[in-house]
Amino acid sequence: MNSIEAFRYLQPETTAWRRQLHEHPELEYRLYNTAGFVAEKLASFGVDHIETGIAETGIVALIEGCKNGPTIALRADMDALPIIEQSKKSWCSKVPGKMHACGHDGHTAMLLGAAKYLAASRRFKGSVALIFQPAEESGEGGQRMVQAGIMDRFSISKVFGLHNVPGIEVGHFGICQGPIMAALDEFDLIVKGRGGHAAKPHEAIDPVVIAAQIIVGLQALVSRRTSPMEALVISVTKLNAAQAYNVIPDQVDLAGSVRTLVPGLREFAQGQILAAAQGIARGFGADVDFEYRRCAPVTINHPGETDLAVKAARNLVGSACVDEKISPRMGSEDFAYMLEARPGAVIFLGNGSTASLHHPGYDFNDEALPYGIGYWANVVETVLAL
Ligand SMILES: [Zn+2]
Ligand SMILES: [Zn+2]
Repeated sequence: MNSIEAFRYLQPETTAWRRQLHEHPELEYRLYNTAGFVAEKLASFGVDHIETGIAETGIVALIEGCKNGPTIALRADMDALPIIEQSKKSWCSKVPGKMHACGHDGHTAMLLGAAKYLAASRRFKGSVALIFQPAEESGEGGQRMVQAGIMDRFSISKVFGLHNVPGIEVGHFGICQGPIMAALDEFDLIVKGRGGHAAKPHEAIDPVVIAAQIIVGLQALVSRRTSPMEALVISVTKLNAAQAYNVIPDQVDLAGSVRTLVPGLREFAQGQILAAAQGIARGFGADVDFEYRRCAPVTINHPGETDLAVKAARNLVGSACVDEKISPRMGSEDFAYMLEARPGAVIFLGNGSTASLHHPGYDFNDEALPYGIGYWANVVETVLAL
């Protein structure tokens, strides 16, 4: 059990790695330089096994402890976002239009720091699998790593994740049992009316007016059809109609996203968005085409592993800095797929008062690096205690 002071020696080196990754962001599965950097560092630490090219550019490395036991996994994501960086920092992105705006550069650097520490100390039984995944932002990389069979192939029994959160103080952690991040689904809805001259609306079936009613109607699914105790968000975020002042279009294209902390509400949303839109459209003599895609599931922390994560964080920073009943977030996280495959938990790591995630002014806070590294080390030395 080590407190934070035991990990501060890794801060200068991991800060240099983090900033190097930050300067060279890559997107989705095309993480060739990033994955190369990670694999090279892992090899230099003397880890026992490295497998690259999983789900294109994902990596799993193994570090064996000093006696036999189970294998647990620690996961980091490596991908950046298609955002033009606005920070004036000397290590800001050197790749136009790409930026590490979600702190995955920090996540990667912290798991590398933990790998260096664990490969040198090995004060645990069993093995640790370090998962470096691509394409978290597109919401499929975690799923593809699971589909590639890593859980069975590396005999992983539990899996732990971590994400930085602006607005939580550096050195503080937040976690809760059960749903901690929302499911994400997307939909496309085409309202099919009959176009015409803007001066003769009675000769047309105006899909713009129908679309407006549908947008308002969908909010009633949340406010009138869903329990106020259950979280559901339906946001219409795209709206495309005619391109002229004097034309009623044939159709209006709507699209949006659905977020919920209750897995069963995805089914409800899918069925009821269609039913509500169809009912409204048909009342006006129009109709709809509807497509609903399930993206990431609800991220659900398992109770036993959440307790282990809390214990590890407390060992590092003390009870006062660990909130074990943090409110869930409505963002989504493809680590959810790993938690469907194995018991585990994801924890939030304070990033201080920085710009929010996905903002062009965001930057991972290097002061948080030793806390993430120390958390990983304590997870391993708690769950795989000798
Ligand atoms: Zn993100
Ligand atoms: Zn992220």
